[in-house]
Amino acid sequence: MIRSITQKKSPEEIERLLQGLNRIFIIGCGTCTTLTRTGGEPEVKDLKKELAEKGKLITGTTVVPVACDNLTRDFLNEYGEQINQSDTLLITSCAFGVQTIARQLKKMVVPGLDTLFIGKETAFGTYDEICTQCGTCIIGETGGICPVTNCHKGLVNGPCGGTNHGKCEIDVNKDCVWTLIYNRLDELGRLESMKKYQKPRNHLGEPRPGKMKME
Ligand code: SF4
Ligand code: SF4
Repeated sequence: MIRSITQKKSPEEIERLLQGLNRIFIIGCGTCTTLTRTGGEPEVKDLKKELAEKGKLITGTTVVPVACDNLTRDFLNEYGEQINQSDTLLITSCAFGVQTIARQLKKMVVPGLDTLFIGKETAFGTYDEICTQCGTCIIGETGGICPVTNCHKGLVNGPCGGTNHGKCEIDVNKDCVWTLIYNRLDELGRLESMKKYQKPRNHLGEPRPGKMKME
């Protein structure tokens, strides 16, 4: 399952972001941040308690089913009065959810989390980044394994000289992705792909903000 992976901002940073904002409505997300235990029901409860102890007035709390969904606005209508009474919304969803809510409501928003990456659950409670959306996908030549995301040096013509018995020199607990690519291509009888030279990456990429228009 693909998830937006987040981590909690420190209490100090949240305090700084909430300076001068005393009446707060807290919104959690029932999807990704509930599963990663960064912004679901228990975390919203904890935040409420911590902020109340610091003298903030919590006008209300809720956990919306999917913060990044446009239907969130309808869901929040039920809390109209409590939201109106607040100086800001403190939102523990990923940045996509925070921005969705910010576009829907005329209210100051404060994110309670940092959004790290889009991840896939690879074991219970473990999420690995699988794609950094680089815009120049080369996995057709690397056996479906992404070196841009998984090589510590981001090498697209690997391996580097530090690979050691299949492990990465930067993190010995991690498989060298270029060894994984080699083994995979070998298994598929496509080892000649290892010789393909990948051009240097254009790190300027697409102009921001990105936009795609379907024809
Ligand atoms: S090369 Fe890797 S980071 Fe780039 S688009 Fe493909 S999977 Fe994503
Ligand atoms: S050892 Fe492998 S994964 Fe680690 S930096 Fe070198 S090529 Fe990349």
